[in-house]
Amino acid sequence: MNKRIQIRAAFLLLLVFFAIPSFAEASGYLRNGNGHTVALTFDDGPRPGYVEPILAILREKDVRATFFLVGRYVLEHPELVRAIDAEGHTVANHTFYHNNLTSLPPENVYREWRLCNEAVERVTGKKPRFARPPGGRYNNFVAERANEEGLRIVLWTNNPGDYAASLNGPSLARKVLSRAKEGDIVLLHVGVAPTIDALPEIIDGYRRKGFSFVTVDEMR
Ligand SMILES: [Zn+2]
Repeated sequence: MNKRIQIRAAFLLLLVFFAIPSFAEASGYLRNGNGHTVALTFDDGPRPGYVEPILAILREKDVRATFFLVGRYVLEHPELVRAIDAEGHTVANHTFYHNNLTSLPPENVYREWRLCNEAVERVTGKKPRFARPPGGRYNNFVAERANEEGLRIVLWTNNPGDYAASLNGPSLARKVLSRAKEGDIVLLHVGVAPTIDALPEIIDGYRRKGFSFVTVDEMR
């Protein structure tokens, strides 16, 4: 390879490298570019017995978080959704039935986003602006249907697998904090007891590292 071709190849590689983030941006995948901040996110709620203690800890620690809610549970427990909203947390869309969107018939993908949006709007009066596909599984089609419903997709950067049976509160907190990095988006779940046990230390640990907390609508 002569030098000119080598330079062209390097230039093309650079173009591809810089094109990837803008492609992701175009398909609605939102990152936390706020440096020393962290967004705590709770998936799969609302569930009675789990939302209340999470809200109590967040209130005591003066932290605002983001809840990606499943539409059919929103309709079953509207009082929990109103409590989440009333305490200043962000309510976001985690589909209506919690299906894997990449294996659904196309016409059902938009329904999953829309029905969850409608459920949240009926309960809180506010339309969600952020969405997370179950399992983080999405493709361009799924993202475009979300964008059509006014939703931007948010995934995560720190997934400790909080539902794993091998974890207890202290080991879960250590796992999250050992992976802490700039612009973190932490994936946690409503319905997991160790997550509640770990939450105070997760918050205190990020604060000791100098992080402040944001909701996904505060991410830049
Ligand atoms: Zn989920």
